[in-house]
Amino acid sequence: MAESLAIGIDLGGTQVRAALVEGGTLLARAAEPTDAAGGPEAVLRQMTVLIARVAPEGREVRGIGICSPGPLDSETGTILNIPTLPGWDGLPLRGILAERTGLPVVLENDGIAAAFGEWRHGAGRGLRHLVYVTVSTGIGGGVVLDGRLLHGRRGMAGHVGHLPLAVDGPACACGAPGCFEALASGSALGAAARKAVRGQPESRLSGRDPEGLTARDVVAAAREGDALALRLLGLEARWLGLGFVGLLHLYSPEAIVMGGGVAEAFDLLETEIHATIRSRAMAAFRDVPVMKAGLGGNSGLIGAAALALDGSQGGPR
Ligand SMILES: [Zn+2]
Repeated sequence: MAESLAIGIDLGGTQVRAALVEGGTLLARAAEPTDAAGGPEAVLRQMTVLIARVAPEGREVRGIGICSPGPLDSETGTILNIPTLPGWDGLPLRGILAERTGLPVVLENDGIAAAFGEWRHGAGRGLRHLVYVTVSTGIGGGVVLDGRLLHGRRGMAGHVGHLPLAVDGPACACGAPGCFEALASGSALGAAARKAVRGQPESRLSGRDPEGLTARDVVAAAREGDALALRLLGLEARWLGLGFVGLLHLYSPEAIVMGGGVAEAFDLLETEIHATIRSRAMAAFRDVPVMKAGLGGNSGLIGAAALALDGSQGGPR
């Protein structure tokens, strides 16, 4: 049998995307802004429309893989709680979509799906042990150890963004203070910029609406050599490095693969990330590389589709 086709769906708070996937390649794609206000029924309708748009003519699709923010229970295929999508708690998403499409469906946490995508088709190909970390609005992740994707109780392993790094510190979306995500996500970088720009008229960042500053603005200013933006990225890289040190010690991967929007600035961050690892990790862990994800914004889509084809993941486990 030729390489199989699957459909990947990436459910996000702002966009729901679908793609027809063969191996690591997107053959067709479609997206819509998530109708979050319409609740689950509206978004389920969006999903079935997107699936119809990417479905091939005359070729069989073997399954559908959905990746979604968590926490979710991938054993039962149920959403537990998505902060950006109110009203979804307890929704048996996998079962509903399987019934409506007549296809086998896999539901996976977006960080775990992206880890699988990077392992099978991206920067982590050929490794037996890797940790994937996505750094964007929040921080998520997934872990492959001993050639196996880790799930843990209820499939909730790898919520690396909520590694507590500080006793106090900024409030995290989860409600706790000082999580890795609250200190090192793209949102945290934007917040740090809004605070730091006060009284810095010489910075390019102060030419903009200070309340609207985002991580993207900081990266753009850093690329133009702005000293304040470069300092902010240096601090961002140190927080990232600190979180990665924790993950190195916990899992002993052969590499950490970094994805998400902030990874677009990987070239500006990697020197300080590696310096932090060399200064803070135990000696035996200091040579482990941090690499940029290979599939860009599609790690989750490709990983979800790959999971739909992976017999060991589909259906009840
Ligand atoms: Zn948290």
